[in-house]
This record gives sequence, structure tokens and C-alpha cells, in this order.
Amino acid sequence: MNGTSGTVVDGVYRYPEKGIKVVIVGAGNGGLTAALECWRKGFDVVVLERAAELSPLGDFFTIPPSALTTLKDYPRLYKKYHSKVHDCVVRLMTPSGHVVASLMPEWKREGIVHACPEVDISFLNRRPEYASWQLEQVQALGIPVHFSTQAENVTETDDKVIIHTDKGDYEGDVVVAADGIGSRVPWPVPGGLSAVKDSGYAVARVAFPRDTIKKGSPAEALSKSVDEEGPQFRTYVGGDDVSLIIFLTKDYVAWAFSHEADAYSAESWHNLRDPEDIIKVIEKSSNDWDPAVLDFVRQTPVKVVDWRLMWRDSIEQWTSDKGRIIKVGDSAHAFFPTAGNGAVQAQEDGISLAECLHQAGIKENMPWATRVHNTLRFQRVSILQQTGFVNRDELHHSTFDESAHAPDGEAPPEVGFFKIGRWVWDHNPEDYARRSYQKCLEHIRDGKKFYNTNIPPGHVFKSWTLESEYKRMAEGGHSGLKENGYWGM
Ligand SMILES: Cc1cc2nc3c(=O)[nH]c(=O)nc-3n(C[C@H](O)[C@H](O)[C@H](O)COP(=O)(O)OP(=O)(O)OC[C@H]3O[C@@H](n4cnc5c(N)ncnc54)[C@H](O)[C@@H]3O)c2cc1C
Repeated sequence: MNGTSGTVVDGVYRYPEKGIKVVIVGAGNGGLTAALECWRKGFDVVVLERAAELSPLGDFFTIPPSALTTLKDYPRLYKKYHSKVHDCVVRLMTPSGHVVASLMPEWKREGIVHACPEVDISFLNRRPEYASWQLEQVQALGIPVHFSTQAENVTETDDKVIIHTDKGDYEGDVVVAADGIGSRVPWPVPGGLSAVKDSGYAVARVAFPRDTIKKGSPAEALSKSVDEEGPQFRTYVGGDDVSLIIFLTKDYVAWAFSHEADAYSAESWHNLRDPEDIIKVIEKSSNDWDPAVLDFVRQTPVKVVDWRLMWRDSIEQWTSDKGRIIKVGDSAHAFFPTAGNGAVQAQEDGISLAECLHQAGIKENMPWATRVHNTLRFQRVSILQQTGFVNRDELHHSTFDESAHAPDGEAPPEVGFFKIGRWVWDHNPEDYARRSYQKCLEHIRDGKKFYNTNIPPGHVFKSWTLESEYKRMAEGGHSGLKENGYWGM
């Protein structure tokens, strides 16, 4: 039933109900954000998740302001978020522990205004914790989440979509495919099931409680620096084709080791490995590793997931031809961890999609809304995906001598990983979708001119693939991506 006025539930203002059903497949970051945002905009939402519960796996991710612009609309989630703000110094270090650069994230620097000034941005968020907060908020709003429910097939007609699951059928006016990179549902999205490829790299990553580190050990001395200097994100570069990131917060610590895939990595997408086994790979990359770093990795109290980094080439069309199915998050666009954007773009997708559906307003117009959302997002996401290759190349191949020092507060030019750019973090996806909807619709429907402004100012968009990036790197070619348009602050 269409309501005429909004309601407030759990402190969240919900737009008048539209009587339009949105079925979301997948309760990851993208799916849960889409669920919250679509519900808030007045849609009837149901979430289907094949797992029995949210996975406890994962360590930390970074979510900059652009993906948190609607956090203020959810008082419960806003409060949880602010209970764990890890305001971080970002460091670039050599394997021996020499600090080459020490920086605040761009959006935290003095005088900088970003896309959501009402949020105290946490540089680090523990993935399982953040996911549990999102789920708690979804459930507090009464949005049904059906766990142990696997989408298996889909039927789309001109006016509805039916998802066939192992527990029965679900019907929607729009279906959001938020089923991650391993998506196996035969979505009728052209190119949507393009082959998943092995990138040739793997990343071993794990988080564990800081108090498991032995008192008096070199690792304890390393982790203690958090008491004097606050949370840290230490990036160690200079080993042979590897990089190691250590995350330090008061209660949890973590590390992520990016390396070429080896015999173990080839066994499955995620192999459990002994920390000692990873140490051997780390040590092979350089003779110079700080003993405290090796001790830190050695003291990991559990086996470590060595994720094989899989890649699916960017597809330009995320919607079905009929337009009632739309892919979001990793299901639409794969990200390497070195892009630091998997969770960010999944959330931006959820925010943008809900606003586009809201702008379209009525059931008949839903297919236009998904196409507009897709057009507004594709180039931005594609450029950010490409940064994963450029960043990794630089992180894996830059070396610094022990006297190297970047000027105060600046990143060395060889490592663009730390150069993010205002266009990324000062973007408000809801506001952008609201402002651009009509013009973009006229572009798609009537062929009028439209240019996205959520990409680096002056950027000339160029298509690329896994092969083209690998060819460039093999030939030692410079990417030039971050010189294409304005990537400054
Ligand atoms: C277990 C795990 C740990 C991770 N750890 C980190 C980390 O530490 N740091 C980091 O930066 N990124 C991590 N990521 C990646 C990051 O969370 C994602 O890149 C990002 O959040 C995008 O989210 P998404 O919702 O698109 O996809 P995902 O987070 O992959 O979520 C997809 C969801 O869809 C469900 N699903 C899949 N197929 C079906 C189906 N047929 N029917 C119903 N449900 C289905 C999956 O079970 C999953 O819950 C992790 C992802 C996972 C799954």
C-alpha cells in the first residue's frame, strides 16, 4: 500500500511506502547497504543469504567518507560506528622498519572538508564487527533476512522477477544481485558471468586480539607503539614482489601479506596456512626484515587464510536487458585489496541505487532507474578498480634506502597507494544520483549528452582489462592513471 507520509522506526525516518518490492540476494556489505537504503526510501525489502550466519572471517577494511554519507540517517548504526573509531597514522616503511613517510589520511588533514563532516571517520573498521552492526540495524528496522537460503535461478518478465531458491520462490519488482565475486546464479546480465580469472597473486590476512601477544616479546614491543602513538597502518615495501601491511589498534591487531601465488595458493580460493609457512615466503623476499615484524607474524594464534586473488574483467552493463535485475558490489565489479575499495564501492552502489529507484518512483520506471544507476557508476568504479593494479605494482616494486624520507606529511611519488584524491572521498553518491538522475535518464532514453562528474576532474576515460594491465606491467610501462585528470586534494 502506498503511504502518504513517512514513518520513524528505530529513530530512522522512512520515506512514504511505495508498494514496490526489492529482493536482495546476498547479505554482504553491498547487500546490507542496499537493504538499509532501499527500506529507508520506502521500498519493501527482503534479503536472501545462502550462509547460515554472517561469516566471522575478515580483518580490517577502510571506508572513507563517500560510503558513509547516509550513516547519520541511522542513529543506532551511527552510535555503534562511533564506539570504535581508529584514527590512524599511515606509514610507509622498509622491511627493516625504517619509516619513509608518516601521513594522516587525506580526509583527516587540517582544513579538509569531506563528503560527510558529521561522521568521525575511522580509518580502520573490523569487517566482521562492521557487518554485525549493519545486520543489527537491518533487523532493528524489521527488514527480513532469510539465512540458509540460496538463490539458484531467476526468471524475469517485463513486470517482475522471481528468484528460485532452495527454500522456495521470492518475487520482486526489482532484484539486487549482491552475491559477491563468486556469484554463481545465472543472472541474465550480458557478460555478467564472464570468466573468473586467477590474478597470479594471493594475500594472506588475519586479525587477532592484541592480548594474545607474549609479554616481553619483540612483537609486544612493536604492538605497544599503539599506546604511545595511536592506531597504525604500517605498509612495508621493498621486498621482492611482496608487500606487508600491519594494522595496530588497542584491542585487535592484524596483518595482510600480498605475494605471488605459490603452490599452496593454487589449491583453492582460500587456503588455511600456518603462520610459520607464510614467514618462509616473507623471509625469501628480503634478508632485512625487522625481527619484531617476523615475531609478530609468527605469534599469530590461528591459521591464516591465504586468499587467492581472483579477477573478473570489468563489465559495463550491470543490469539485465529488461532492467529489473541489477548487480552491485563485488558481483558487478571485482576489486584487488590494493585498490582499498571493495567495501567502499559496494556501499556507494547501495546508496546510489536506492536513490535512483526512489527518483524513478513507480514500478514501471524501475528498469530506467537501474540503468541510470549503472551509467552513473560504471566509469568511477572502473577507474578505482584499475588503481588496484597500479598500487600493487608500485607497492611490490618500490625500494627505498635506509635514509629515504618523504617531505613531512607527503607520500613519496613512487608509491601512489597513499594518493587517493578528493574526487574519491568528497563524493556523495546519494546527492549525485539525485542531481544527475534526470539528465542521465534523458541521455539513456533520448540520446542527450551527459558526462559523469564523479571521476577525477579532467579525466579521459579509457577501457582496460586484466590482460592489458599485465601486458603494460610486463613491458615495464608506466600507468599514468593518476596523472589522467586531477587526483589532488
Ligand atoms: C568472508 C569474507 C571476508 C572478507 N574479508 C575482507 C577483509 O578483511 N578486508 C577487505 O577489505 N575485504 C574483505 N572482504 C571483501 C569485502 O567484504 C567485499 O569486497 C566488499 O565488502 C563487497 O561486498 P559484497 O557485498 O559485494 O560481497 P560479499 O561481501 O562477498 O558478500 C556476498 C554475499 O552473498 C552471499 N551469496 C553468494 N551467493 C549467494 C546465493 N546464490 N544466494 C544467496 N546468497 C549468496 C555470500 O554468502 C555473501 O554473504 C571479505 C569478504 C568475505 C566474503
